[in-house]
Amino acid sequence: MNIHEYQAKQVLKGFGAPVAAGVPITSADQAEAAAKQLPGPLYVVKSQIHAGGRGKGKFKELPADAKGGVRLAFSIEEVVAHAKEMLGNTLVTAQTGEAGKQVNRLYIEDGADIDRELYCSLLVDRAYGRIAFVVSTEGGMDIETVAHDTPEKIQNIVIDPATGVTDADVAAINAAYGLTGAAAEDGKSLFPALYKAFVEKDMDMLEVNPLIVMKDGHLRVLDAKVSFDGNALFRHEDIRALRDETEEDAKEIEASKWDLAYVSLDGNIGCMVNGAGLAMATMDIIKLYGKEPANFCDVGGGAGKEKVAAAFKIITADPNVQGILVNIFGGIMKCDVIAEGVVAAVKEVGLKVPLVVRLEGTNAELGKKILNDSGLTIQAADDLDDAAQKIVAAVG
Ligand code: GDP
Ligand code: MG
Repeated sequence: MNIHEYQAKQVLKGFGAPVAAGVPITSADQAEAAAKQLPGPLYVVKSQIHAGGRGKGKFKELPADAKGGVRLAFSIEEVVAHAKEMLGNTLVTAQTGEAGKQVNRLYIEDGADIDRELYCSLLVDRAYGRIAFVVSTEGGMDIETVAHDTPEKIQNIVIDPATGVTDADVAAINAAYGLTGAAAEDGKSLFPALYKAFVEKDMDMLEVNPLIVMKDGHLRVLDAKVSFDGNALFRHEDIRALRDETEEDAKEIEASKWDLAYVSLDGNIGCMVNGAGLAMATMDIIKLYGKEPANFCDVGGGAGKEKVAAAFKIITADPNVQGILVNIFGGIMKCDVIAEGVVAAVKEVGLKVPLVVRLEGTNAELGKKILNDSGLTIQAADDLDDAAQKIVAAVG
């Protein structure tokens, strides 16, 4: 689960990380009052969307030379003018895709005088099975570009879970950044605090880009992007409360209500499967035959007819879906239940695109009979290869 920058900063502040004072607003009327709560004379007006690259982003509705999604303002009047121009418009960044994201909330922040911009993130390093700091002196930039062009400028500092962040780790991070004086002193509390926040809140990514050294020599978290491990959310009521469903894919929200694993993709074949491995194999074989999956919906092991019907409705609700492939291996899952769910859903919402079904395993024959007797135009497939070829041909 992702949260907004202003929320991430609240969470980090709770662990003692230095962040600027700021006020979130949802309408331009609130801009003046928000700015008045800040010391000035420099303010920053920041679009709150679940995507990065906002500073370099462009608003669809504004002229090409208009400023981006993160703007400096030198007076309260300027804050208000920016807020009026930005709110409600669609910001397109390197991470939003072409459609962009509507900016429904701004964060008005006390501006910082920046000396240096650094990069700092924490993630689970799969090679070590430990949490690692990823640090680079090249902050404020797209880290993928840094990794590609100048990989030597990125260092990983892997943390031992038994000790947490040690003095030696802090020294290594400070040295990687070349921090001295007040900044190095700040590092002694900041880096352990980031690690503590990451562990205690079950984050799976925490990215501070940039972490800045200010002109006064101190560190500040200038931007913060956090995502949480969905499997651990049950034990963080405070984090769950930060969820902003308007930022999420409506179909993924509906799927999560049914406890379905649904992932939206860019192609045009919808996939209903059971099990993650089968989902991967199904997507691979669709690609092998030259098409791309629009999504996959994993109904899991023990789904009932209603859950299968819900899954089918979610898949068909995607306007990009030009064909559906149902690929079920009935182990615990019974094929007749899948068939009943599909038939019920089609009766309710109709079927406007070709449907290929491959059922194998428990009650496969009964499942096929239910589909055949339903009067629906369904193409039955014998195996995965046959199924993929049939749906690719049907979509054309
Ligand atoms: P992003 O573009 O979505 O990553 O948004 P950031 O919060 O990282 O802001 C983008 C850039 O705006 C930063 O890299 C800074 O260069 C600039 N910026 C953001 N806040 C401030 C600030 O308080 N003072 C100054 N001078 N620049 C800022
Ligand atoms: Mg940033």
